[in-house]
Amino acid sequence: MELKDRFPSNAAEIDAYFKALQSAEEAGHMVSAERAMPEPFNSAHHWWNKRKIERWCSVTTGEVVDKLISDPQLAAVLLAQWGTYGGKPNEASFAIHSIVISHYLEGAHYPVGGATSIAKGLVPVIEAAGGSARAATPVSEILMENGKASGVRTKSGERFNAAAIVSAIGAGETVKRLLPEEVRAQDWAREITTFKPSICHFDLFLGFEGDIAQHGATRSNHWFYESWDTSDAIYRAQGSEPIQMMFVSFASLKDSNHDPGPANKHTGDLLIWADWSSVAEFADGGAEERADEWASLKQRVETRMLEFFKEKFPGLVPLITYHELGTPLATALFTGHEKGGFYGVETTPRRMMSEALHSRTPVPGLFLAGQDVVTPGIAGALSGGMMGAAAIDPRVFQHFK
Ligand SMILES: Cc1cc2nc3c(=O)[nH]c(=O)nc-3n(C[C@H](O)[C@H](O)[C@H](O)COP(=O)(O)OP(=O)(O)OC[C@H]3O[C@@H](n4cnc5c(N)ncnc54)[C@H](O)[C@@H]3O)c2cc1C
Repeated sequence: MELKDRFPSNAAEIDAYFKALQSAEEAGHMVSAERAMPEPFNSAHHWWNKRKIERWCSVTTGEVVDKLISDPQLAAVLLAQWGTYGGKPNEASFAIHSIVISHYLEGAHYPVGGATSIAKGLVPVIEAAGGSARAATPVSEILMENGKASGVRTKSGERFNAAAIVSAIGAGETVKRLLPEEVRAQDWAREITTFKPSICHFDLFLGFEGDIAQHGATRSNHWFYESWDTSDAIYRAQGSEPIQMMFVSFASLKDSNHDPGPANKHTGDLLIWADWSSVAEFADGGAEERADEWASLKQRVETRMLEFFKEKFPGLVPLITYHELGTPLATALFTGHEKGGFYGVETTPRRMMSEALHSRTPVPGLFLAGQDVVTPGIAGALSGGMMGAAAIDPRVFQHFK
């Protein structure tokens, strides 16, 4: 309704876009479900739904919006949130766009207590079933026995054997870093290595003291663009260019459990998309070897980001008590994602149509889970977990809605 108020002469086009969104979301979910189905159900399901799947999964967001929307400003508004899955409109599958955008239509969700509450919810379930969860225990290798995945070896040399090995670290990272050469040479694994990692980002984490809601902070996500071309606002320079786009969010306002205390403490998160080339020369030890240059690059980016923020929220700047920059190198270090691509592999039509990203890999005993199996984002990663479980035990499908 709000879109129609703002673009009254495009009302029919807006309806057509949302109809397409719904259809493409259904097609995307069909592909996701297939990623856990055993044969022959997988092939039969695909054959039956082939037309719908191809129609929506094999086209880009840009192609669909170009066809349906005549006003370039309306098109820009509909495309502007491509950062929620990291695929530029002329590259991303419309089905991925539809799954992610549709799940925001009724408003977003925030985990009460912050992101750690997800682990706090999951770990007791694992433990109640006799398992254990180990943080900070990097796996260096998936072990094979007679062509079957039989266990993992950790970086510290511990070995764990299991009937099913589920890797949720990323499909590309699993193949490139954990599998032995003979498995990496298999067709499905080779195909996975051809997917590019998604975009990376700089993130400025803010701490405030004061009533931020009084000065423009809200519970909504804020997307700022400096031009109506919202499709390629990726930072490629090293702090010397003005910023074209910024995502701003105030997590503490979203968290109903947050107690701001007597000092009225709040948090904010400023994010810009970046190309790995902006930090590539500092990877693999470069940041330590040329510490001064690295510090000065970080300083420049931080200053640019704060300037941009100041322009949008001038009243909040005096309330800032803390700021710290996260870089693509930090993302790569903490999440293990290649080139800081925290959204996993590219979100292209090729990814949607690929059979290589099946939860049940051709290697007996080896399963994939996480965002690469379904779509980027928390909801996508949680669904990826469900798909991994369903691939191991199809009875899990009974719990799908
Ligand atoms: C700043 C920021 C804001 C975001 N905001 C949102 C948001 O508002 N909503 C949303 O839906 N999504 C958001 N995302 C995206 C979301 O975080 C990811 O899409 C999601 O976390 C992917 O989940 P995953 O489990 O597939 O992978 P990851 O969360 O990347 O988990 C992979 C895990 O594997 C571990 N790992 C890597 N290598 C190894 C190894 N060799 N051995 C053992 N463990 C290993 C990593 O340490 C990591 O814990 C955001 C991401 C960032 C960076």
